[in-house]
This record gives sequence, structure tokens and C-alpha cells, in this order.
Amino acid sequence: MLTNAPKGTKDMMPDQAYKWHYVEKKFAELCRRYGFKEIRTPIFEHTELFQRGIGDTTDVVQKEMYTFNDHGNRSITLKPEGTSPAVRAFIEHKQYAEVQPTKYYYDIPCFRYEKPQSGRLRQFHQFGIEVFGTPNMLADAEVISLGYDMITAMGINDIELRINSVGCPVCRKNHREALKKFLEPKYNELCDTCKTRFNKNPMRIIDCKSPICHELVQGAPMMVDYLCDECKDAFEDLKKNLEALGIEYTVDPTIVRGLDYYTKTAFEFVTNSIGAQGTVCGGGRYDHLIEEVGGPPIPGVGWGMGIERLIMTAEANGFVFPEEDEVDVFIAVMGDAAKAYGLKLCRELRSKGLSAQMDTLARNIKGQFKYADRLNAKYTVVIGDNEIAEGVVSLKNMAKSEQTQVKFEDLYEAITK
Ligand code: ATP
Ligand code: MG
Repeated sequence: MLTNAPKGTKDMMPDQAYKWHYVEKKFAELCRRYGFKEIRTPIFEHTELFQRGIGDTTDVVQKEMYTFNDHGNRSITLKPEGTSPAVRAFIEHKQYAEVQPTKYYYDIPCFRYEKPQSGRLRQFHQFGIEVFGTPNMLADAEVISLGYDMITAMGINDIELRINSVGCPVCRKNHREALKKFLEPKYNELCDTCKTRFNKNPMRIIDCKSPICHELVQGAPMMVDYLCDECKDAFEDLKKNLEALGIEYTVDPTIVRGLDYYTKTAFEFVTNSIGAQGTVCGGGRYDHLIEEVGGPPIPGVGWGMGIERLIMTAEANGFVFPEEDEVDVFIAVMGDAAKAYGLKLCRELRSKGLSAQMDTLARNIKGQFKYADRLNAKYTVVIGDNEIAEGVVSLKNMAKSEQTQVKFEDLYEAITK
């Protein structure tokens, strides 16, 4: 037990970490091109923020949060998602007083107490972006476009964009009544969670993971058929923008962000490549969330992308992550004077940007060469008393098995040429 990571968590060993460096760099670079700025918020927040920001009829808030009282008896929750904290920071720092829109991105760990399985962890990681301050469907299209570019940059072909509109509080009222009428005769068969949703927020029943509820909602009235003119126009606008971008989509009326502060656009990027947990990215518009959390009435739109699922999908689609740079030069030393000299030389080469390594386990010279091989060093240098006296070393190119005599001061040039 002591030597096992907690259930639903994963160590990220170096043989995985290089892939994360790659996607994180790619994501930050795409965000730069789209004009999104990074935001870093605390790993935990007041529990109430998530109750308000995600909504207390959701699975996340009802069953999945890591919540505890701290020593000051405050209820604290480890971030289960990134939107509410970004909204909280936007309000706290009065960013709404600046020129809009505000475009944030983040790269965060998330914590949800779920049943661990492939693509579903208790600590997982998300890329996220948010645009605050514009109701325009150009923003929704840009947000989707960045998600699409990120996914395709990872060589993923097997991906489908599914879009929907969840309307606004005005048109949702009509849908809500129709949906309740449809579900009323089936009420007793609903799962316990959905029984409470029936009154509080029936739209979420459409999103229930229980197979029984899933069956019960077949043929139910769908929000897209109840949109008011404003929401209908917005949805048509979004489709036009996606067509202009050449991004293919299908309309999926079952995609739900079923809370009053989520409005209009809802979408998912789904793949078949990684089994049941195929939603790589999910997002939408939330025109009343900022207000709900205590800020001014400012609209927003964004998404969250599961990094584990992104990497799994990329690899399932044949993407090979480039390995990171290996050792440029290994400095083998013979004798005490050479050790000190090697240490100094390593540091000098490192300061110029090379990866220079030496033995720290007092291996003999044969052992040092073997170790250099293991490290896959591109070059090896040997330093002994003679070399120090003459100021010349022999530099061995390991791949070519070529050896050249090089002055100490020319070493960097010889290695980087
Ligand atoms: P799901 O339907 O798979 O539970 P969700 O609707 O709960 O997803 P969001 O809250 O929209 O997911 O989070 C955005 C993304 O984060 C998901 O599309 C997914 O890629 C990833 N994600 C969500 N929960 C997990 C988890 N427990 N483990 C790994 N990745 C996750
Ligand atoms: Mg979930």
C-alpha cells in the first residue's frame, strides 16, 4: 500500500513525461497564435464556487468532488474543473473593467472521485480555454477551431465534432415542460439521481450515464426543436462560421450542459479510438455563469480537453512523440585532477546550452564508457593528466566511431558544428 499510488492516480515517469512536454508546448503555442493568455489559479477553491459554478444537480458536485474542511473549518474542494476558478479570478481581479474579450488558457490537474478505468482517473489533467465578454458566435467558432487545431496537430484523424444548442432560460422553459411531460409516466424507473433531476433540472437526465435512464430518454423532446428565434439564429451563425473554417460537424441533440447558466452552444470532440471514454474535449457557452458566481452579466464560452485522453488518442492514431534531446557529450575522467577538471568543463558546456554528463559513481574508465553508451551520448571526451597538461582532448563521435583531437577551448564548436 505504501508503495502504491492512490487508486485512480498515475505517476508520470520520464518515459511518459516527454510526451506531456510535447503536448503542453504545442498547446501553449496554439494559444499564443489565437491570442489566449495563460492563467494559473489555486489547486483548491471554496467548495461553494463549484456548487454555484458547476451546479448542484451535476454528478461532479453531487458525487465526485474531493471536499474537506481545513483546520480553519472552511470547506475546501480540489479543483474538479477549470472554468469556475477562471471565472472567479476574472471577477476577483476586476478584469471585466479591461478591454474585452478576455481570453484565458490553462493547463491543470483536476480531481474527481470516479470509478477509475481506461481514460477515467481520479486525478486527471485538462487543457482549457475560456473567452469572456462576447456573445458573438465568432467567439464560439474560434474556441472550437482552437480545439480542432490542437487535436489535429496530434495527428488524430478519428475525431468527430458534435454540436448542439441548449438554448437560453427563455426557450428552455418550454422544452422543460415538454420533457417533464414525456418523462412523467417513466418517473419511477429513473435512477435516484435523475429522480431529483426531474424537478430541479430534467435536461440533465438526457446526459445520465445509467443505461436504464439512457433507454428511457429515447424519443424524448430535444432542446434544438424548442429554440427561440435568437438561439436559433445563433446556432445557424455558429454552423456558418464552422463551414467558413472548413470544420466538419454533426448536430447531436443529446449533448447537454444542463444548467441555467449554460446557454446556446454545446459541443464535444469524440473519438472511437480509445474505447468507451471517447470524449476528448467538451465545452460550450455560459452566458449567465459569471453573474451566477457574483460578477457582472458577462457572457463566456470555452472548453476542457482531457490530456490523458488526447495522448491516448494521438498514439492510437499512430502519432509518434519525438524523443527529447539526449546527452550531447559525456566527459570521462582519469585521475583526481581530471575529476575536478571534468566537473568544471561539464558546467561550462552546460552554460552554453549543451547536455554534458559525467560519472558520479567512481566507475573505472571502462565502466564510464559503458555508462556513456547507456546514456546514448553523441560524443565522448576523455580527460587525464596528459590532456590537462596539453590542453587538448580526444573527442569521439559515438555514431561514426570517429576520433579527433580538439583544444579545450574549441570543444563547444566541435560538438555543435
Ligand atoms: P465524461 O462524460 O467522459 O465523464 P465530462 O462531461 O465529465 O466527461 P468535462 O467535465 O466536460 O467532462 O471535462 C472535459 C474533458 O476532461 C472530458 O472531455 C475528458 O476528456 C476529460 N475528463 C473528464 N473526466 C475525466 C476523468 N475522470 N479522467 C480523465 N479525463 C477526464
Ligand atoms: Mg464526467
